[in-house]
Amino acid sequence: MTLAPAEPDPDANKVPVIYVAGAPFSGSTLLGLALGNSDGICDLGEVGFLERMWHDQRMCGCGTALGDCPFWAGIRTALDQADKPLLTLQTSQPAHPIDAKNTRFSLKLMRAMGLRDQTTLGRAALQDYATRNRHFFAAVREATGAVLLVDTTKTAARAIALARDPGIDLHILLLHRDPEAVFAAGLSRMRARNRVLAPLLPLLQMIKLRRQYRDAVKCAHLVGPDRLCTLHYEDLTRDPASAETRLSHWLGRPITFGLSKDRHIPRDRYHGFTGSRSINRDAGAKTVALRPADPPRPMGWGATALFRALRWTLPHPPTQP
Ligand SMILES: [Zn+2]
Repeated sequence: MTLAPAEPDPDANKVPVIYVAGAPFSGSTLLGLALGNSDGICDLGEVGFLERMWHDQRMCGCGTALGDCPFWAGIRTALDQADKPLLTLQTSQPAHPIDAKNTRFSLKLMRAMGLRDQTTLGRAALQDYATRNRHFFAAVREATGAVLLVDTTKTAARAIALARDPGIDLHILLLHRDPEAVFAAGLSRMRARNRVLAPLLPLLQMIKLRRQYRDAVKCAHLVGPDRLCTLHYEDLTRDPASAETRLSHWLGRPITFGLSKDRHIPRDRYHGFTGSRSINRDAGAKTVALRPADPPRPMGWGATALFRALRWTLPHPPTQP
């Protein structure tokens, strides 16, 4: 009997990227850090904000400025050597608004009217954005030797652009967390930044959270079932071994967070630059404690009542058993 030649894997030459989706304050920084401890996996943090953070010389999670961090310097060298259009660490690309921290009003308005970025920014600009990111990811793989890259940006606009690129093998890892905890954390951040609109902030935070949940739903629908995995932050922190097993099955390779017996994760491979303030602030620590998720922080009876009254309006991102 002769064996039929193996079917060539159509995804073999694609750059595999695990894109973490979900609302901010869902624990994506910790998840990326944990994933980055597995052999062959490199956590890049919120790549969508890298250019701006680099430009502003923000601090890396390892405790040095991004420009001085040996990890990012190695990647910068790889970028400089790559003879391809890629992230330029400038903000000149036409599709750059996709990565803006605060989306400009005209783009928000277009999106609210149902117009896709493809229409607003132009198909060519979006393809250019995706190509540059693919080349960036390829240069990072070259520099780090990693097989899989983790991008925790979470925005739907970026995921949609990356999903359009035939050279990127996009995996969506959808992170869920108790919506009340996410709402309370977001509201706390909003209150710290804006004291003038205080009475309106719970409602504004609810509107923002709805948009973030809509983004999560959009991300989940970008890929087929084999490229989608959902994970609850509460499960990750309560039973990390099960999360490792689940992710290993999904990715077809062993995933280990490097947990110690006292439930600490090493952070020596962590070079994120945005996300969890508590993780980034604690750059001198060698590990991050994996504690069971905290209950929602107190936010006052008015905000709690508003959230519980409107909770049903949040879109439902898919979950898996
Ligand atoms: Zn660093």
